[in-house]
Amino acid sequence: TTVIDSALSPELLAAEQPFQEVTGAELAAPLLDGGAIRYANLDYAASAPALASVTAYLEQLLPYYASVHRGAGYASQVSTSVYEHSRNVLRSFVGGRTDDLVIFTRNTTDSLNLLAGCIPAGGEVLYLDIEHHANLLPWQAVPHRSVVARPSIAATLEAIEAELAGGQVALVAITGASNVTGEIFPIAETARLAHRYGARVVVDAAQLAPHRRLDIARDNIDYVVLSGHKLYAPFGAGAIIGRADWLDSGTPHLAGGGAVKQVRLDGVVWTTGPARHEAGSPNVLGAATLARAAEHIAQLDEEAWQQHESVLRGYLIERLEAVDSVTVHRIFSGEATPLDAIGVVNFSVAGYDAGLVAAYLSAEHGVGVRDGKFCAHPLLNRLGLPSGALRASFGLGSRLEDAARLADGVAALVRDGL
Ligand code: PLP
Repeated sequence: TTVIDSALSPELLAAEQPFQEVTGAELAAPLLDGGAIRYANLDYAASAPALASVTAYLEQLLPYYASVHRGAGYASQVSTSVYEHSRNVLRSFVGGRTDDLVIFTRNTTDSLNLLAGCIPAGGEVLYLDIEHHANLLPWQAVPHRSVVARPSIAATLEAIEAELAGGQVALVAITGASNVTGEIFPIAETARLAHRYGARVVVDAAQLAPHRRLDIARDNIDYVVLSGHKLYAPFGAGAIIGRADWLDSGTPHLAGGGAVKQVRLDGVVWTTGPARHEAGSPNVLGAATLARAAEHIAQLDEEAWQQHESVLRGYLIERLEAVDSVTVHRIFSGEATPLDAIGVVNFSVAGYDAGLVAAYLSAEHGVGVRDGKFCAHPLLNRLGLPSGALRASFGLGSRLEDAARLADGVAALVRDGL
């Protein structure tokens, strides 16, 4: 790593430095191999390693492990209080309104499936072709229409407006930040547009939430969904936060204990509030650790947090674009200035299968990247990448040396072959 660091300009190193001090030691998983070589995990967009403060909290909670809402015992009371407190933490993490519901789910996919059961009868869901399958497939169960994103944001918003004007759209489902390219979509503008036509907006913030502050009340976002495992919490918990009316009258996401007011053998009266969709014993520890991770993220210095990623992203793109036969992919390639983006870089190497490149980078250079179609087949096909591409993604523990190692590896591949 010292060899790689010495090849970097002092400006880049200086720019990165302040943030590493804040976060470098915070990761619970020490990204070390035998204590010597640091494996460069550039796959934060898939799942981010849990923070040390989060796993410590988990250990603290273990003695109080009990089922919530069901027992008068002390442990059950503690668990219930932690679980309910976690809702408030998440509501404020996304800048929610006081009357927004916070429903715990398994992850973003689960949250969007839940919302699909709450669309008012006859209402359509409108989405772009750039979406992750999680924000595309649940809508197949209800009336829906899709729009092909254009090379510019302005033209894409115009295309969305044309559909809003011509249909019965109840909900616009939009990604906050693309899991494929990291580009950030203007969610507040989309919400303004949707509301003008009487539609609501759900933001898939699986990628945005770990990288940018959310303020759904300010931006007039009706629903937001996210996953704990991308937000430096363990796997298993996610959430949907948003307006109560549809959620209170929609189809219960799971049928079972806790979701009902009254049950007779010939009929059920479902309850309202989060419990309507949370039947069964909930994932208390998942909700609690998700909330603890959100608290940690909320305390980060926003400027340093974002500068950290933009330095890494800018550096990697510059290095990759300097290699012949490497292409960096963008969705909104028609914008005069590239869109603001989270720390995700998508690229391919001409003449090389993406899976092979990823395996080579891992085995020969100790760099972990994702390859494939990123659960976004319609987009990858449209970008002319039917057999997939490569994705490097950064997070709190990423260092410039990780990006440099990746760029060096790709350069070596192109120079020397496999
Ligand atoms: N939406 C986006 C933009 C994502 O990146 C992902 C995961 O990669 C998902 C949804 C689905 O998240 P999960 O697998 O946690 O449900």
